[in-house]
Amino acid sequence: QAKQAGGNLIRFFNPKMQESINARITLENELRIAIEKSQFHLYYQIQMDSDNRVLGAEALIRWTNPEHGLVLPATFIPIAEETGLILSIGKWVIETACAQIKVWQKKSQTRDLTLAVNVSAKQFRQKDFVDQVQSAVQRHAIPGNLLKLELTESLLQYDTEVTIAMMKALNKIGVQFSLDDFGTGYSSLQYLKRLPLDQFKIDQSFVRDIATDNNDKAIVKAIIAMAQILDIDVIAEGVETEEQQQLLLGKGCTLYQGYLFSKPIPIDQFDALIGRFTDS
Ligand code: C2E
Ligand code: MG
Ligand code: MG
Ligand code: MG
Repeated sequence: QAKQAGGNLIRFFNPKMQESINARITLENELRIAIEKSQFHLYYQIQMDSDNRVLGAEALIRWTNPEHGLVLPATFIPIAEETGLILSIGKWVIETACAQIKVWQKKSQTRDLTLAVNVSAKQFRQKDFVDQVQSAVQRHAIPGNLLKLELTESLLQYDTEVTIAMMKALNKIGVQFSLDDFGTGYSSLQYLKRLPLDQFKIDQSFVRDIATDNNDKAIVKAIIAMAQILDIDVIAEGVETEEQQQLLLGKGCTLYQGYLFSKPIPIDQFDALIGRFTDS
């Protein structure tokens, strides 16, 4: 058809579509270069408890693009997932996280910090994912229980038996699991009780308006009740105000992450922040 019309297929796209296709191809190529040239780094966002004790951090990936500067994951993680580049990126994240835990091990002040790492579905579904994590933990000689993998509800919904077996294998070396963005999926209690989870992470969309929105209040209450039944931790993400923290505490959520404490920051700044929280 396109040939008969005397042109190539591109002609059937409008210019806007062509522009976005070009942008995608460029981004994909740039991501490949980013992997080769080590343009990724991790930012660290502190996690606290209600007694102002530091629990650890969540590692959040950043990309320093030579042309565009700091690029946030929302821009490139979806493309990395579609293209499969997430496999090498994800492997790098786990390596870097384990190396950081090892560095923290050398100082008494940071020895017990846990580090949470986001794992995407494609990454988790790799045949050798368990091996990758085990090998990183062992090579860096770190206590496995300081590494926490953040999984999402949608990831857990498929191949439940395989997923449980993988989680249990990693549990054997201490690795912990947190259910990220909890409340945005459709997990039932029946189903959740089969998964060896250590933590629910309340999605920030329920925290944002917790002071004014009765639905959000009810959802948060339900999540905390489920966690209590299952005997697992609850942490809230996106905590920005003291009012939100107090309301969460009132409902029984004692672990927090959000701009109220700190934005995600580079490692040197994070270490300085830890110093301030743990001095005295
Ligand atoms: P997430 O895992 O749910 O991470 C929480 C996001 O909320 C982060 O955005 C964080 O910077 C932001 N945030 C934290 N506290 C607050 C707050 O108080 N208020 C508001 N408004 N936002 C807050 P970020 O760093 O842009 O990451 C976005 C998402 O990208 C993450 O959501 C995660 O799904 C994904 N991601 C980040 N790093 C990685 C990674 O290494 N691997 C994979 N597969 N995904 C990653
Ligand atoms: Mg997360
Ligand atoms: Mg989250
Ligand atoms: Mg979220």
